[in-house]
Amino acid sequence: MTRLTLVRGDITEQSVDAVVNAANSSLLGGGGVDGAIHRRGGPDILAACRDLRASHYGGGLPTGAAVATTAGRLPARWVIHTVGPVWSAHEDRSALLASCYVRSLAVADELGAATVAFPAISTGVYRWPMEDAARIAVEAVRGAETAVGEVRFVLFDDAAYRAFAARLN
Ligand code: ADP
Repeated sequence: MTRLTLVRGDITEQSVDAVVNAANSSLLGGGGVDGAIHRRGGPDILAACRDLRASHYGGGLPTGAAVATTAGRLPARWVIHTVGPVWSAHEDRSALLASCYVRSLAVADELGAATVAFPAISTGVYRWPMEDAARIAVEAVRGAETAVGEVRFVLFDDAAYRAFAARLN
């Protein structure tokens, strides 16, 4: 049984086995969660991402996929990078957003991570409406077959926290 918990706060401050990064396909840094993780985690994370680009992910990490690196100086063991879809009014990309959660949990299982913190993927620069993103996130995690014991959603502001709380209860 996976426990789903909610915290309002900063994902870079979570003491968990794995922190999930709302990365972009380049893996070479961005704003929002990605910027905060690289700032707080230090240069080892970017170095590991560059290695991934030089090996398995020469074309970048595909949308909906996930891959792990060191967590550098973060109070976590690993960062799991996943690339959310950009929200579209014309095309239903929900399956790709759900895939971010499911594939990140599969990577967590491979690592043996028992606690995993997720941000609200795609709801920042990628503009996914918060209520819908919360629904997809909670359904995806509830439907995933995983040995992870705690999935912690870390929400940056009140509106995000309320959207996720409404889905959990
Ligand atoms: P995306 O590109 O997938 O939209 P962003 O990083 O721009 O990702 O934003 C995803 C969500 O994470 C947004 O709701 C944003 O407010 C939130 N966020 C930004 N910084 C942090 C942080 N340090 N910890 C937790 N959540 C954050």
